[in-house]
Formats: sequence, structure tokens, C-alpha cells
Amino acid sequence: MTIEDTAADAPVRPSNIVIVGGGTAGWMTAAYLKAAFADRITITLVESAEVRTIGVGEATFSDIRHFFEFLRLEEHDWMPACNATYKLAVRFEDWREPGHHFYHPFEQLKSVDGFQLTDWWLRNPGSDRFDKDCFVMASLCDANRSPRYLDGSLIDQDFVEKPHQGGPSRSTIVDYQGAQFPYAYHFEARLLAQFLTKYATDRGVRHVVDNVVDVGLDERGWVSHVRTAEHGVLAGDLFVDCTGFRGLLLNKALGEPFVSYQDTLPNDSAVALQVPLDMDREPMRPCTTATAQAAGWIWTIPLISRIGTGYVYARDYCEPEEAERVLREFVGPTAAEVEANHIRMRIGRSERSWVNNCVAIGLSSGFVEPLESTGIFFIHHAVEQLVKYFPGGDWDPNLRTLYNRSVAHVTDGVREFLCLHYRGAKRADNQYWRDAQTRTVPDALEERLELWRTKVPDAMTVYPYYHGLPPYSYNCILLGTGGIPVRPSPGLELADERAALSEFQQIKAKAQKLVQELPTQNAFFARMRASL
Ligand code: FAD
Repeated sequence: MTIEDTAADAPVRPSNIVIVGGGTAGWMTAAYLKAAFADRITITLVESAEVRTIGVGEATFSDIRHFFEFLRLEEHDWMPACNATYKLAVRFEDWREPGHHFYHPFEQLKSVDGFQLTDWWLRNPGSDRFDKDCFVMASLCDANRSPRYLDGSLIDQDFVEKPHQGGPSRSTIVDYQGAQFPYAYHFEARLLAQFLTKYATDRGVRHVVDNVVDVGLDERGWVSHVRTAEHGVLAGDLFVDCTGFRGLLLNKALGEPFVSYQDTLPNDSAVALQVPLDMDREPMRPCTTATAQAAGWIWTIPLISRIGTGYVYARDYCEPEEAERVLREFVGPTAAEVEANHIRMRIGRSERSWVNNCVAIGLSSGFVEPLESTGIFFIHHAVEQLVKYFPGGDWDPNLRTLYNRSVAHVTDGVREFLCLHYRGAKRADNQYWRDAQTRTVPDALEERLELWRTKVPDAMTVYPYYHGLPPYSYNCILLGTGGIPVRPSPGLELADERAALSEFQQIKAKAQKLVQELPTQNAFFARMRASL
């Protein structure tokens, strides 16, 4: 047993929590802990006025719904305040070849007679669009449709929306595995942080704006306090490190090592622009777009009054000036006056995210490039897990172990999923993309790739621990990127395909009907804003 594991003279049950950092991670953590434990805990959040937040992170996973539900917030409570829009999918452009696109939608894949639709599609492709043939959402995205009607009702997409306000129980990500809510959100990170600041401070969170200049440790190596420049010492029982890539408490003060993923995911930099958008004139896609580039990819996130965009690239292949030039050229004249935000990314995770009485959440815990918008999902998952494994007076070390395992599984699983995008991309028009096809991937993924050549991914062959990405997501990327040959199950040649063909027909008919009935995103949000 190490000194860390000694419970004998450990602190009492934590009820006094200090959060360092006021970015998305800090405020999501403060709001969620207050929603979970109310006045049975006290929270102080300290953030620097000088150290800026990362300023990006505006696209989410559909699971984020459970975060707002847990806070007992309805869409109309927070979406207008955050200039939020709907996101039905990630749209990948030019990953296979120039001009090609496909979607990774928030929609589970159906099965017929025990075989996923992918299998049936491979046996007898209805068109060259796997995504459109197997998912309704791909057609809605191509037609820029909203997932809600003008009266606010949700499309019928195998998810029953329950009113939650005031009910005693609240949903969490892990409870809802397998029940896919049909969309996620885009929002302005700055406005979300502002909104959550008010939510949390209204519920008693003490907000200190100051620089943390020192982290005090006791004789056991537990954090006893943080010292600020102007507000003196902030003592606490449990400290949450939300200081971003700096990892001020966990990595710097406690010395927890950082495990880099750079060998498998080489993109280590980004340059971002906030570009004005006139939503009365320009169509708003109901998806995040990831457009492949010479040394990475560009994200495009449509918000109510602007577009968030940025080039994620590897410095080994591209200089920052070149990345900014490419991004500005991609966006066009509307970006001419906009200042660029250059960011160096730390890709990987802390070996343990919770050490002694310090838990890192957000970029200080871990980060992978934002190709599948997983950063905010990591925060949401982490804070849910913190509530689940919240320590008692004995600070049972098993709770930390379980928490750390859960967080590591999620990050490592997403890493595998992202590696598949690059290994799978068919384009090989320059050294960056040729290297992507041969770059090391985690050993377990290499084995899985071998199996997927014979049998498309299913629950048996994807990363086995919870990481937010079901098998259908892997099918989308494998078939969409197109560089890894896949084939249908031989058994299907002997099977009766009538039920599968009927399923494909139903998807097509439903997609056509919905495209006709639903308003565009622009129309939906114009109506929503007019009614405010
Ligand atoms: P930060 O925003 O860096 O906040 C750090 C905080 O710590 C600040 O408040 C700062 O003032 C404070 N601080 C630091 N030092 C001190 C000190 N000494 N004293 C007091 N306070 C201090 N995620 C998604 O889900 N979707 C996306 O589309 C997405 N896109 C991204 C694109 C890029 C290029 C990058 C890099 C990340 C992206 N992410 C995305 C991740 C997302 O941005 C982050 O997960 C999220 O913003 C959380 O950041 P944070 O709060 O951990 O850190």
C-alpha cells in the first residue's frame, strides 16, 4: 500500500470543493455537482482573468442532452442564450476522394434477421451512398432539415421524448446506451460558459476571479489549498483541476505523467476563426462538417450568428502560417477581418485523472483531436463518473481506481475510433495521407481491422468498454472513408433478402416524407427567435 492509499489520517468526507478553471470544463463541473448534491456541498470556482479559455469546442455528441436534463433545463431555457443550433451528424468531405461526402449520423443502424443493414447493403448496394441507404438522417442533412417541426415537436426517430422538468429522476449517459437521441447541438462556448456561470452562482457557487499562483500539498502529497494572487488561500477537501492543457494541479503540482497519443494521432495544432454568418441568406447545415485538407482537416460549425471554423493539422507536415492561409482561403472574404486563434494541442491523457484528492476534468485530463466532437463528451462523462464514485469519509481508494479506469477506457476507446478515420481514408494524394494509411495504430485496433475486412464491426469486435461510440459508428467510418476493403457475410448469399429490401424501402420512403415535411434549420431557428 502506498502513502496515497492510506486512509488512516485522510481528510474527512469531502464537502468543500475547489474548482480551478472557468472554461467549459470548470463550469460544466460546477453546475453538474450542484445539480447532483445541491447545498450538501460548497463549491468555489477560481478562474484567471489573464489566462484565456481555449475559445473553441462548440460541437457535441447527442448524449449532451442528458447533461441539460440533469440540470433540469429545457432547450428553450438555454439554446437561445448560447446561439445554439442542431447537429444531426458529422459530415465528412473529401476523405475518400475530392467531391465525395458521407455522414456519421446520430441514428442507430437497424438489423434484419440478425444481420446489420450494412451486411445486407454490402450484399446488394441500392446506390453508391451507404449512409443514405441505411440512415434517414443522411437525407435530412443533405436537405438542411431541422429535426423538429415548426411547432417544436420532434421527428419520430425511435426515441420517445419524455417531459423531465420537475420529475424526481434524471437521465445519465450510461443509462441511455443504445437509445439514440436523434441530434446533438452546436453552441458558442463562451456563451455556454456564461450561461452555466449564472446557473451555478445562482445555486450558491462562489466565483473568484484571480490567478492561482501556487498549489499547496500536505505531508501525504494531497492538495491542501491553492494560493491566489489577490484572494489569499483557498482551502478545500476535493480539488478539481480544470486548468486546460496546463494541468496545473494534476500534472504540474502532483506530477502525474501524461500519456501521449502523438504516435497514433499526429495532429497537434489548430488555427480557428469565428466568421460572421447571415442566417437569412446562407443555408445552415444541421451537422458539423469535417473537410479533409493537405495536412489534416477543417471543421465548420454553423451557429445562429456566426460559423466556428478551424484547421486541425500536424506541424510535422504544415507550418502555422500555411495552415492559417489555407483556412482563410477555404472560408473566403468573410474571414478577412477576423483574428485567428492559433492553438497547440496536447493529445493523449493523464495516466490517472484522479490522484489523491485531485480530479482533472477537461483538457487537463485528456484530449484527442476534435474530429468527432468528443471533448465536451469527455467532460460530461467525467463529471457523471465523479458523482457516481464520489468519495466518502474513508476516501476508499477503490473509488478512484474505478473512476480512473472508466475515464481511461473512454479516452482510449475514442482514440481507436479516430485512428480508424485515418487508416480508413482512401485518399493518398500526398505524404500526409499516404503516411496515414501506414501509421501505427493501437495493437488491439490492428487486430480488429483484420477482423473487419471479413466481417463489418459489430458488438463483438469494437473496443469493448464504454466509450460513447456504438458499432454502427464504426460501420459508418469504415464504409464512408472507403480505403479498407470490406465484404458481406458469405452466409447472406443463402438468405432470403426480402425483409432487408423492404427495410431499405422504408428508410427511403421515410426520408423522402421527412424531407418534405420538416422545415430547414434556417426556418426553424428564424421562427424560434421570432417568438422570443
Ligand atoms: P480551457 O478552456 O483552456 O480553460 C482553462 C481555464 O483554466 C480557464 O478559465 C483559465 O483561466 C483557467 N486557468 C488556467 N490557469 C489558471 C491559473 N493559474 N489560475 C486560475 N485559473 C487558471 N470539444 C468538443 O466537444 N467539440 C468540439 O468541437 C471541440 N473542438 C475543439 C477544437 C480544438 C482546436 C480544441 C483544442 C479543442 C476542442 N474541443 C472540442 C475540446 C473543448 O474545447 C474542451 O474540451 C473544452 O473547451 C474544455 O476546455 P477546458 O475548460 O478544459 O480548458
